[in-house]
Amino acid sequence: MLIREFDGKVPDNMKDLTKLPGVGRKTANVVMSNAFGIDAIAVDTHVQRVSNRIGLANSKDVLNTEKDLRKNLPKEKWSKLHHQIIAHGRKICKARNPLCEECDLKDLCEDYKERK
Ligand code: SF4
Repeated sequence: MLIREFDGKVPDNMKDLTKLPGVGRKTANVVMSNAFGIDAIAVDTHVQRVSNRIGLANSKDVLNTEKDLRKNLPKEKWSKLHHQIIAHGRKICKARNPLCEECDLKDLCEDYKERK
């Protein structure tokens, strides 16, 4: 398809990237951000979990989480924050046992406040 429809070039936009087999919004956002330097925020399992715990998003649906993040975070920081949120999710805000007492964000975190 890349050769046939896109002249051998990887597209740099959501509409065309998601035409490619196996490419959904998450992958398209990653490609746009990492390969083309376009402001984009991909919602993977870590971003979904952490952003909803903190209160940056309020949805079980990744598309709505992406919309919330696009609304609540400065555009020029989307790509960097994507990586930072993933790192935070892997190291501190883990799925099963989040290390809340070690977390620098606990004073801001909605989930933590609710459990206190
Ligand atoms: S306080 Fe806990 S739940 Fe909130 S972001 Fe930190 S680790 Fe995650």
